[in-house]
Amino acid sequence: VIEKGTPDRAVVTTCAYCGVGCTFRAEMRGEELVRMVPWKDGKANHGHSCVKGRFAWGYARHNDRIVNPMVRGSVDEPWREVSWEEAIGHVAREFRRIQNAYGTRSIGGITSSRCTNEETFLVQKLVRQGFGNNNVDTCARVCHSPTGYGLKTTFGTSAGTQDFDSVQHADVILVIGANPTDGHPVFASHMKRRLRQGAKLIVIDPRRIDLVRSPHIEASHHLPLRPGTNVAMLTAMAHVIVTEGLVDEAYVHERCDRDAYAEWAEFVSDPSRSPEAIEELTGVPAQEVRAAARLYATGGNAAIYYGLGVTEHSQGSSTVMAIANLAMATGNVGKEGAGVNPLRGQNNVQGACDMGSFPHELSGYRHISDAETRALFEKDWGATLDPEPGLRIPNMLDAATDGTFKGIFIQGEDILQSDPNTRHVAAGLAAMECVVVQDLFLNETANYAHVFLPGSTFLEKDGTFTNAERRIQLVRKVMEPLNGYADWEVVQLVANAMGLGWGYTHPSQIMDEIARLTPTFAGVNYDALEQRGSVQWPMNEAAPDGTPMMHIDHFVRGKGMFVVTDYVPTDERTGPRFPLLLTTGRILSQYNVGAQTRRTANVDWHAEDRLEIHPHDAENRGVRDGDWVSLRSRAGETTLRAKITDRVAPGVVYTTFHHPDTQANVITTDFSDWATNCPEYKVTAVQVTPSNGP
Ligand code: SF4
Repeated sequence: VIEKGTPDRAVVTTCAYCGVGCTFRAEMRGEELVRMVPWKDGKANHGHSCVKGRFAWGYARHNDRIVNPMVRGSVDEPWREVSWEEAIGHVAREFRRIQNAYGTRSIGGITSSRCTNEETFLVQKLVRQGFGNNNVDTCARVCHSPTGYGLKTTFGTSAGTQDFDSVQHADVILVIGANPTDGHPVFASHMKRRLRQGAKLIVIDPRRIDLVRSPHIEASHHLPLRPGTNVAMLTAMAHVIVTEGLVDEAYVHERCDRDAYAEWAEFVSDPSRSPEAIEELTGVPAQEVRAAARLYATGGNAAIYYGLGVTEHSQGSSTVMAIANLAMATGNVGKEGAGVNPLRGQNNVQGACDMGSFPHELSGYRHISDAETRALFEKDWGATLDPEPGLRIPNMLDAATDGTFKGIFIQGEDILQSDPNTRHVAAGLAAMECVVVQDLFLNETANYAHVFLPGSTFLEKDGTFTNAERRIQLVRKVMEPLNGYADWEVVQLVANAMGLGWGYTHPSQIMDEIARLTPTFAGVNYDALEQRGSVQWPMNEAAPDGTPMMHIDHFVRGKGMFVVTDYVPTDERTGPRFPLLLTTGRILSQYNVGAQTRRTANVDWHAEDRLEIHPHDAENRGVRDGDWVSLRSRAGETTLRAKITDRVAPGVVYTTFHHPDTQANVITTDFSDWATNCPEYKVTAVQVTPSNGP
């Protein structure tokens, strides 16, 4: 641990890693960060933290930081350092040139879930007001876009239902497709406390995650289903609940759309959807599924927590709705200790979605085709907005290879590493005439960039993040930006070079604009955040203190909407050439593609990605623990070391994706969620063979 002497000042701010949103006291000596101390009054963390938030901030002053803007004529040329003025002028001229040559819709932008709400709002405003189209998207496209679709359809709002503290009232906790111990460690501690007090645990996951068996905790049921069969499993649980008379009839009668319920109940009751009928498909004994369903329905307050193992599938949106169906059928929405709670990965993925980062939605999840909503923004911005939804990230890349999309502004996202089918991403970027990357480091995407604009860390700016429980928290500037500007200032420079005439002098003014234009944020302002510490949206006239729990008396959409979710097998099939199914996840000490955690000296962050493989599958292939193996799919190939373990079932392999050398996305395919295009990262048919190493 690097300790740099006695601090002489401290600033309370919010962690920039995961969606838990822990609050810290950043203790400073001059411009040097001495240490990060978990803040006892933090509403999300109550004085706790994990190793990343506590120690992994060294990247903020790492030598790899790029602090001067750079430009080059083509990606084959070396970078040339230029002034901010020259770089921004170049971006504005290039974007206008491209639009003049190829049309208004030939450029777009990507917002970042690592940046603040205010920065995200400005990027989508730049696209809508300045570019004159709706070609804006965000990294939620590749993680929680099915949450937005599924929860909005069933409940009426694209967010989790509870605050984190609600787990202390849960009698049954169902964790599906999430690994909170590694992915959301501080919330996992809250959850474990409740489990040690006696709450029952059901885990639905192909892998035996730590939570299944840890000190003083043993899951009542672990359903290690075959990757890609979530919908069949949840439908089988619904079958048990309906056919065994475990539905909360009064709740459904009063709170839900009765016709939709009747159709759904008839659908799930069919014997072809029973646990026995899907036993071979999922690989889970029917009696275990029946017992888990009974426990969920009758065990008291039952809360569901889920992660990317739910969303990153070809049926991601269907799975979210299948989860919502279960919760409504058992009366487990709108009360303490219950609900449906997505565990968001990135610190501000909830906020990025709230701020209108989608090509079809303005802030507050209002459709761009709605004339009344558009008129509100048009009046405020003095602009005419395009009523047509824009392009999603994969569609931007497709349009680029087709020659109709030519320029992009990418803030704080390394799409070459984080998006599926790396070759296709590279081809799309290579086909563009002006790729602008704004980031802390020269990331992989920057290999295809013509302009690099230095980014700023969360320590170098004011703003807000919104965590997984809809909690809006202040991010406070701890030190001056190394590059001279916070990211919101850079977006403003681009906007003004394009003639938009913005005049923000502080992010609080951007939040005032967000509140003016977004009903769920109507009561949010920096004074309220300073006084209260944080607030959970919706915060407005109807909810002046914010909203820790949603859907209490009625669903936001009115009646809860059951949706028939028919199981449709993914097109990604195993076969003689690719007999194993690969699924992916994270480890505690690393964060996503590791851009920040790998640049922190405090702790050993350098553990490699390994391929977990069952002893039977390893033996069949002559693979020993620690051997190099080649991992091949229909899309590509990579090499990594094997870890032999029975945490994964026979037929399933698992790896993390933190190291660029692993290039896990070289092997992921183009299959994606039917509703949102969220990529199917969690199911890839692969072959594993011994290798001599990379
Ligand atoms: Fe940061 Fe998440 Fe760890 Fe909290 S749990 S310290 S928010 S990474």
